[in-house]
Amino acid sequence: MPLELVTVPCLSDNYAYILHDADSGATAVADVPDAMAVEAALKNLGWTLSHILVTHHHDDHIGGVDALRAATGAKVVGNAADASRLPRLDISVSPGDRLEFGTDTLEILDVSGHTIGHIAYFFGNAHVLLSGDSLMALGCGRLFEGTPAQMHASLTRMAALPDDTKICSGHEYTQANARFALSVHPDNAALKARAEKVNLLRKDGHPTVPTTLAEEKATNPFLRTDDPAIRRLLGMESATNTEVFAEIRARKDRF
Ligand code: ZN
Ligand code: FE
Repeated sequence: MPLELVTVPCLSDNYAYILHDADSGATAVADVPDAMAVEAALKNLGWTLSHILVTHHHDDHIGGVDALRAATGAKVVGNAADASRLPRLDISVSPGDRLEFGTDTLEILDVSGHTIGHIAYFFGNAHVLLSGDSLMALGCGRLFEGTPAQMHASLTRMAALPDDTKICSGHEYTQANARFALSVHPDNAALKARAEKVNLLRKDGHPTVPTTLAEEKATNPFLRTDDPAIRRLLGMESATNTEVFAEIRARKDRF
């Protein structure tokens, strides 16, 4: 049985993702913006939570962790290096670690940039990436702590995962991200088609996530720093990929 994946809208534009391995009963959530929303979803599904996976320290991702642990007894997993500003960790992990999850294996990736110490969780068999505020649908997280070079390296690491990887990012920002993406890559047919699809989904209030890595590689400008059309538009034909990334990120901040 493949892992089951459930998207739970929380707060105004956050998402929690619940993953369930029916064979073993292992059930994980990442992140916990709102404990009550996650508890209600678990109750509906009839699943018992075993793991709470934390991507980074921002309040809109960890605000419900302690309450959800108290309610479920699940083990809280997070980056050892960032423990001082995370809820108490039951399982401390570091980038490169692997953690058993039912019949699957969780790989821990360093995806610093939005914050330093931000990690992502990759399910090696199911090909699911819990990316928090690092790689997002048609975008990437704002650089609050890291440098452009750090975020670019993080995105490159994630872009090397299998194309069919489901990308589960922390927010519903896709419509605004699409408008920006079109401003730096107006002739991308796949992006135009995706922007229309996103508008239809949002019109009906549906989530635009998870997305797939293949879709992101085709349409997300932050993963296309070597695209000649984007470079031409930016006037950066001979710049490095990191320089192009930094310019796209700076334009997004001002957009
Ligand atoms: Zn954040
Ligand atoms: Fe966030």
